[in-house]
Amino acid sequence: MTKFNVQQCPVCDGKDFSPFLTCSDFFVSGEEFQVKQCKGCGFKITENIDDEESISKYYQSDEYISHSNTTKGIVNFIYHHVRNFMLNRKMRLVKNVSGIKKGQILDVGTGTAFFLDKMNKSGWQVNGTEKSSGARNFAKKEFNLDISPSENLFRFKENSCDVITLWHVLEHIHQLNENMEMFVRLLKSTGRLIIAVPNFSSFDARHYKNFWAAYDVPRHIWHFAPEQMKRLGEKYGFKLSGLRTMPFDSFYVSMLSEKYKKSKLALFKGIFYGKISWLISLFKPEKCSSVIYIFEKI
Ligand SMILES: [Zn+2]
Repeated sequence: MTKFNVQQCPVCDGKDFSPFLTCSDFFVSGEEFQVKQCKGCGFKITENIDDEESISKYYQSDEYISHSNTTKGIVNFIYHHVRNFMLNRKMRLVKNVSGIKKGQILDVGTGTAFFLDKMNKSGWQVNGTEKSSGARNFAKKEFNLDISPSENLFRFKENSCDVITLWHVLEHIHQLNENMEMFVRLLKSTGRLIIAVPNFSSFDARHYKNFWAAYDVPRHIWHFAPEQMKRLGEKYGFKLSGLRTMPFDSFYVSMLSEKYKKSKLALFKGIFYGKISWLISLFKPEKCSSVIYIFEKI
């Protein structure tokens, strides 16, 4: 097995790093991972993780898929409604920022393809990539959508997309620079790139430190704040044209972080700190737990 270690910062090309945090994989393995920070730009990177081929053991994708379309039980009931709310919000955002009602969209790391199905049903031509074959099969069976394996990203037609979306995906992708390069090529000159990722400069990240659930090592390789994301976009000829918040993430991530801390009254505390994070993000969207970045081509 080959390990994946980054010697050069993908954002600023700097080669000097300092230790930032030691985080545990609370979700699957219990193993510890070091997160380092670039001295040049402050970008954070999880060290010494498995390469693309071997990292799948840190994902419980089968369990995720089997639970993704059931409405039984109160938690699933809430999950189902929050998801529908978010799907509608994402669809409106795509239409607003692209300025078109119908067009061609590529969703990278589409998972079980609920979002693409939503776009498809509202008249968009949809394409998606997804690493997990289980998730691709689910999309075919459930929505009759043909989703491509991740490596096929490099085979799509240049200048063909009105919108490319990555919903909590970019932080998982080993080949960060290669993917950014492809997004520029695949987008039309009027196209928009929409990227949602967790924000390490959020209130909840600073409050929970190594227990912050959105460090999610080793699955999250890259850790962004607005400054680094803006700079990464500019490196590839994008201009950051807008920011949006993901209010549910403030609550969800805070509740999960409390669970990881094994707190008493985890739910109560999670809602309390989630609410602080959410209130701050109303005035300072760049401080939200997760941020949606909207890029246009320069
Ligand atoms: Zn850097």
